[in-house]
Amino acid sequence: MSSTYTLSPIASISTPFKQKFAIPRQPGLAKAQGKITFEDGYDGKSMLKGIEDYSHLWLLFLFHENIEKGWKNTVKAPRFGGNKTVGVLATRSTHRPNSIGMSVVSNKGIHSDGGSLYLEVEGVDLVDGTPIIDIKPYLAYADSLTSATDKLDNYQPIPNRCVSFDSGIANVVQRVEQQNKGFKDLVINVLAQDPRPAYKQHIDDDPKTYKVALYDKDIGFVVRNGHVVVTEINPR
Ligand code: SAM
Repeated sequence: MSSTYTLSPIASISTPFKQKFAIPRQPGLAKAQGKITFEDGYDGKSMLKGIEDYSHLWLLFLFHENIEKGWKNTVKAPRFGGNKTVGVLATRSTHRPNSIGMSVVSNKGIHSDGGSLYLEVEGVDLVDGTPIIDIKPYLAYADSLTSATDKLDNYQPIPNRCVSFDSGIANVVQRVEQQNKGFKDLVINVLAQDPRPAYKQHIDDDPKTYKVALYDKDIGFVVRNGHVVVTEINPR
């Protein structure tokens, strides 16, 4: 017998990532901030009472941008460089039944903006506007397992390229940093991981300009001599 259950998001998160491209593969890989605001009918103030006792939180959310595409039994996991097919439940793929994602993030506390309350978190891997279906404290005594093994740990390490900015855009970088504190570090964190498709990531000279959308800016980069070079920053 099968049953159907309905889930309603309790909140949504705003993040600097305006599209999926270039979002890190897992939380904590870039110091990206997220602001969680509660939906009508959910009283964030009382629901979060006591949350300050925890340094880290689990966010459970919907991969809402992929729901319409449906799910797959097997996927090509980026950790295999996109070359090997594995069962969806053996991965953290977004193409899964029920479209539920989970991320551990740092708890940066409850704040208010013009009278409305929000929970600030850091280290998110979520696209702007992702619906949050639950928030739970991270319990180190139960969730941090020193005996855990992961045979793929070093199979396809996350790239760590040097990132620099073209001298011609130094003023723009400074101006955007003033508007969005941490902008420059976030760009460096995100681009060091070389967001190009897996089949391009071994190419050290790639003149194609790739575009990443962070905050309200389109950031263009190329790869020269093994380094990621930011060549343009434009309003979106
Ligand atoms: N940490 C989560 C997990 O393990 O369930 C997410 C891992 S998933 C591999 C991370 C990727 O999900 C990001 O790189 C981004 O491309 C994608 N993503 C983030 N938010 C999304 C959303 N709301 N809908 C669809 N895809 C999303």
